Amino acid sequence: MKRAFFIACILPLALICFSCAKASLTGPAEPPKPAESAGPPTAEAKENAGAAEEAGRSELQSDIDAGYLILVNKTHGLEKGYKPADLTAVKYYAADRRAEGRLMRAAAAEAFDSMAEMAKEQGLELVVTTAYRSYDFQAELYEYYVAQDGQAAADRYSAKPGYSEHQTGLAADISSASVGYKLTESFADTEEGKWLAENARLFGFIMRYPEGLEETTGYQYEPWHIRYVGCAAADYIYSHDIALEEYLNILDEETEE
Ligand SMILES: [Zn+2]
Repeated sequence: MKRAFFIACILPLALICFSCAKASLTGPAEPPKPAESAGPPTAEAKENAGAAEEAGRSELQSDIDAGYLILVNKTHGLEKGYKPADLTAVKYYAADRRAEGRLMRAAAAEAFDSMAEMAKEQGLELVVTTAYRSYDFQAELYEYYVAQDGQAAADRYSAKPGYSEHQTGLAADISSASVGYKLTESFADTEEGKWLAENARLFGFIMRYPEGLEETTGYQYEPWHIRYVGCAAADYIYSHDIALEEYLNILDEETEE
């Protein structure tokens, strides 16, 4: 992204974009690329690229330190008592759901509100239906789904208690009036769903259960479920079309090198 475009178009829209736009300049967790221009890079260009790479790395490290890259899936669970200390209510939510579900970790809530505001400026409504879920609430839900659809079917779309990403306070199910605030695959075809898939990364979110990655994520396609990972990771995951599991493997391999 050209710096002038960044200043003119991205910066005024939402402050939170700043870190994401910066991350997309650096391509964190990616090996340094040779310069695109024909001639050798100038000393100044080298210095700028080095500084940008360093900034991307330190942003990623601070996201890791804050726990934003925690992995929760069918094989990586949380303790029953795990509850983030910084849960904060989002401003944009579906009014008919339980209040506990409006909570996210502070950075994720702030990022979501900024994203909903940017969508609103473009005439699109995005609301949280459920974000945080306690272990006990997940237990209730899972038992209900198993009774309704049987365990094999329930396991494709619901998590056993302790294995739901919603317990991290970093995940949220998003919907809009255009689909009656339901969680449905047809959300992907709405203007809101398309906008979300394209722009979530600018706010540090990824589409956590993409189409075609069910074997990796363990979940069927969910165009409504977003996960906060911070801008550096979100940008990489979006541009490489991979699952969080694959991204974390890449980071592990880099650490081992
Ligand atoms: Zn979800």
